[in-house]
Amino acid sequence: MLKHRINTFFLFFALLLLAGLSFWVVVPFWVFVLPVLLWLIIAVAGSSVITLNYHIKAYCGNPDVTANTISLTFDDGPTPETLKVLQLLKKYNAAATFFCIGTQVEKHPEILKKIIEEGHTVGNHTYSHAAKMGFFSAEKVKQELQHANKAIYNAISKQALLFRPPFGVTNPNIAKALKATGHTVIGWNNRSLDAVIPDEDTIFNRVTQRLAPGCIILLHDTSQKTVNVLERLLVFLQQNNYKSVTVDQLLNIPAYEE
Ligand SMILES: [Zn+2]
Repeated sequence: MLKHRINTFFLFFALLLLAGLSFWVVVPFWVFVLPVLLWLIIAVAGSSVITLNYHIKAYCGNPDVTANTISLTFDDGPTPETLKVLQLLKKYNAAATFFCIGTQVEKHPEILKKIIEEGHTVGNHTYSHAAKMGFFSAEKVKQELQHANKAIYNAISKQALLFRPPFGVTNPNIAKALKATGHTVIGWNNRSLDAVIPDEDTIFNRVTQRLAPGCIILLHDTSQKTVNVLERLLVFLQQNNYKSVTVDQLLNIPAYEE
């Protein structure tokens, strides 16, 4: 939020300065367009790249972690693929965090219960995961967050405090809604792009090249492809003495309301 305000302040400052200057010399029109363009580029980048912390503070990893500890996170479930993910996590003794969509939670409440029973963490990933959420009013975003929390509560009797914004998109309305609901925003600093890249080797190499203590890895429990990559990843973690813990453990923050 602060970074966005600073950006906007500089835009007005530059425009005011140019307007003042135009009393003395002829300032061409494009010189006025330039700061607006710059503001826009920064605002668009800040809204789409979660690690920039432009509109909201998001935890994208823990830089203080020196041990080989990381967090595997899975978005967009629960789905039937989640069961395969849970099986692998158990086999390799790893803990993870699942950012769940409200509508999916209503479809598979028993999978959500299993996630909790097996020692993993559940977080909020909005109720409908709408592609247009970047254009929702603050009130509508707030309803999305509360509706998802209710669906999660109905399944596991826990009030989720952790939230991951769909597509990593943030803006002033989302920031306002989060201030009202009090959710903690969890980003990532190791994006697998497993929902975009078709090739398993490429996804595996991307993640392992970026592996570092304290990192948060973004995956999706929605496809067999990710399940295949996950098994290779868990073997790799084991061979390199890395351990995956839940994000609340990695960041030392609460995952649910007491
Ligand atoms: Zn998502």
